[in-house]
Amino acid sequence: MARKNDGRKTAASGRKGAAAKPHAGGAGVGKRPAVAASKAAAKPAAKGAKVGTKPAAATTPPPAKVKFRGRVLENEPLARYTTYRLGGPARYFVMPADADDVAKALDLAQDRGLPWLALGLGSNLLVKDAGFPGVVIRLGKGLDRFEMKGATAIVGAGLATPLLARRTAEAGFAGVERFIGIPGTVGGGVYMNAGAHGAEFAEVLTEATVMDAKGKIKQVPRKQISFKYRSSNLGAVIVLEAKLALIEEPPAKLKEMQARLFRWRKAGTPFDQPCCGSVFRNPGGPRTAGMLIDEAGLKGFTIGGAQVSPMHANYIVNTGNATASDVLRVIEHVRKTVAKKTGVELELEVKVIG
Ligand SMILES: Cc1cc2nc3c(=O)[nH]c(=O)nc-3n(C[C@H](O)[C@H](O)[C@H](O)COP(=O)(O)OP(=O)(O)OC[C@H]3O[C@@H](n4cnc5c(N)ncnc54)[C@H](O)[C@@H]3O)c2cc1C
Repeated sequence: MARKNDGRKTAASGRKGAAAKPHAGGAGVGKRPAVAASKAAAKPAAKGAKVGTKPAAATTPPPAKVKFRGRVLENEPLARYTTYRLGGPARYFVMPADADDVAKALDLAQDRGLPWLALGLGSNLLVKDAGFPGVVIRLGKGLDRFEMKGATAIVGAGLATPLLARRTAEAGFAGVERFIGIPGTVGGGVYMNAGAHGAEFAEVLTEATVMDAKGKIKQVPRKQISFKYRSSNLGAVIVLEAKLALIEEPPAKLKEMQARLFRWRKAGTPFDQPCCGSVFRNPGGPRTAGMLIDEAGLKGFTIGGAQVSPMHANYIVNTGNATASDVLRVIEHVRKTVAKKTGVELELEVKVIG
């Protein structure tokens, strides 16, 4: 999805050999202390980020310029890269062409003393209007390998999940066919333990290749990863690749099932409106978050351009001109009303960034 150069400024980063200890942040945000932020580029860090305050010694040479094979943009609006179609800019926006670029992006964050964020298709994110004051690393083209070795799929984190579902079904393998309507990437899906119609990534993953905040790549076997409903304990790493164990099944049967699931989605969810899918986690128990919101009479509730979908109450849609602040206000209202009327405290599934 990388766009052609549109004249926006490209950031050159300094790369440091010394790796500082990573600090895990919420929502997949990692931060490392600054080691030699260049004077011109030093910026305040994200709210709450611990950033090294030690000034660079007078004798420290300026960081060497590093070339990315992919692209680096400055102050790039994130609305373009989220399914909500809203949110402010990223200080630096990196579209890595390969794993080496991902490491360079992490170095850029370290050198500037900024937090970083791995981004897939932005389908589970609500980016605040002020944007993200750090380095967004968007995995897509270049990191979207798809290969079948027997019944094992080896897939890049940047591959779109619906494409994974389609290609494996066409090749005659079951296990991820029900992910056809999850509009994210494999990396985001593994990190979030995405799933649908009773299947989730945790069931098929056998190994994840990840890069830690120091740029070190390692293979993590499934048994070392703890998955819960829509979350994992992967922490401050970037998923680069996943191995998935699938089972042979006739392609015609899988494709027929996918067509049926897709029709179900189109009929039951506001599939064509900008949104992030389910906003709240299902609380457990007989009633889903959507049922509770519906029971509280909130379908259609609107603030600014943000609306509780009249079609599916757990979707808050952008009707065209919503700001992140509109969506956050609707979220707050829904939470309070549902708690008051049903006694259930809803928890967010969408990740709020910024
Ligand atoms: C219309 C619609 C329907 C949806 N239906 C479903 C559904 O049925 N089931 C479901 O589970 N979800 C659903 N979702 C939510 C979303 O699609 C999933 O959570 C998806 O897996 C997110 O992937 P992404 O690539 O878009 O991640 P992003 O939204 O870009 O990021 C989500 C989180 O994952 C992290 N992340 C992303 N990529 C990486 C990486 N390579 N390495 C490490 N961390 C990473 C981010 O930092 C962030 O914390 C839906 C969303 C929409 C808009």
